[in-house]
Amino acid sequence: MLTWFHRWWPANPPAVVDRWGSGYHNPVPELPDVDRFRANLAERAEGRTIQRVDVLDAGVLHGIAARTLDDALTGHRWRSPERHGKWLLAHTDGPTVLVHFGMTGDLRWSPADEPRDRFDRVVFVLDDGELRYRDMRKLQGLQLAPDAGAVEKAMAGLGPDALAVRRGDFDELLAGHRGAVKAVLVDQSILAGLGNLLADEILWHAKIHPQQLAHQLSPEQRHQLYDEMRGVLRASIRAGRIPDGPGWLTGLRDDPDARCPRCGTPLSRRRVGGRATIWCPDCQRAPR
Ligand SMILES: [Zn+2]
Repeated sequence: MLTWFHRWWPANPPAVVDRWGSGYHNPVPELPDVDRFRANLAERAEGRTIQRVDVLDAGVLHGIAARTLDDALTGHRWRSPERHGKWLLAHTDGPTVLVHFGMTGDLRWSPADEPRDRFDRVVFVLDDGELRYRDMRKLQGLQLAPDAGAVEKAMAGLGPDALAVRRGDFDELLAGHRGAVKAVLVDQSILAGLGNLLADEILWHAKIHPQQLAHQLSPEQRHQLYDEMRGVLRASIRAGRIPDGPGWLTGLRDDPDARCPRCGTPLSRRRVGGRATIWCPDCQRAPR
């Protein structure tokens, strides 16, 4: 399926979107998706013991061999998982598995007798069912952190989580960066969790132009941006993805004639910081 959107943004491979059916507009796992994976683990695996780890494709393992992963985890119980940005911190009563879902990662619980998918890469066999890490493109994957210090070290390069950051800290990180606000929002070392689609959605809700410089935002704009970021994230987590219904921008990304859901103005499109970006030229006025 070659649509206008794909010609406009050829880096987005149609096969990924079609095969995964996880939403045409939301092919890449973003914060709400990772939160869903966290919830899956908490609901179905927390408290359960890992019987063994089947590594079907070691290409998703980073810094650890398949056998070592199995040895390190077998016999341990899953504890309450956490999320930081787009990372899942899958704690056990021993080591922690750190998962980054890249472009096509997925974590789901399945009954043991359900046939495995050809893109299942690592399967944690439990006393009830299996937790399956599935990933078509294998751009990221799994690491093992032996203890809390190793978890901290692995997460050290990330900014605060976008859902957990406090208003004062958010103000400071915006004021401290001179780049376009869109580029600042998606920079994981500044703020962890926002991807391209979420950033556009949040800026549209906050009526802020993506190219406005972060450090030049007024206190009112920063206030609005923080409120809208939380609102968009909460609604997206509730929905399990970025909502694409009326009143949302995300569902319009592939429509070349799309108009602003708020004011009806044709949407503008351009690359900002190398990322395909859409906004309303009327609601989100260009910086002077
Ligand atoms: Zn508008």
